[in-house]
Amino acid sequence: MPSPVGHALGALAVGWMVAGPAPRGARLAQGLWIGALGVAADLDLLIGRHSMETHSVGAAVIAGAIAAACRLPLASTRTRTFLTATLAWLTHPLLDALGADTSVPLGVMLFWPVSTDHVLIARVFDGISRQWWREDFVRHNLLAALREVMRIGPFTLVAWIVARRAARSRSARE
Ligand SMILES: [Zn+2]
Repeated sequence: MPSPVGHALGALAVGWMVAGPAPRGARLAQGLWIGALGVAADLDLLIGRHSMETHSVGAAVIAGAIAAACRLPLASTRTRTFLTATLAWLTHPLLDALGADTSVPLGVMLFWPVSTDHVLIARVFDGISRQWWREDFVRHNLLAALREVMRIGPFTLVAWIVARRAARSRSARE
């Protein structure tokens, strides 16, 4: 399963495409919120329910609804804020379903609350090791994160360029 770096990049790649130009003065906040929404599902590690309900379409919709209700500075309208937060969150379980997993049940509870089955689609990303006592812990995780940057980073870069162009043409119109 990808690292927080890969998850943040994945969320930004999708989030920037959906959100459109950031609300005025909120460019940094928009990026930070989208990145955080892409990582947040792993907070389930703190409650011992990793890769379960938080890694699902249901959790993504709940996150989107909360973001829209709280008017997070993601987009100019509530609907767009909902879509941005939902899809940014959803990148997390999707990327996890494309990563190596060694803990049973393999994969993530992608379709919760409709189904509690775990889904593992393919192995595109290396697993991030949490076994800090192992000799290759740092090297393994750095290499895994670097591969994520190389695989996901280009999509994030394209999304950033598209978002910047949209912001520039909006300011030119105003
Ligand atoms: Zn995860």
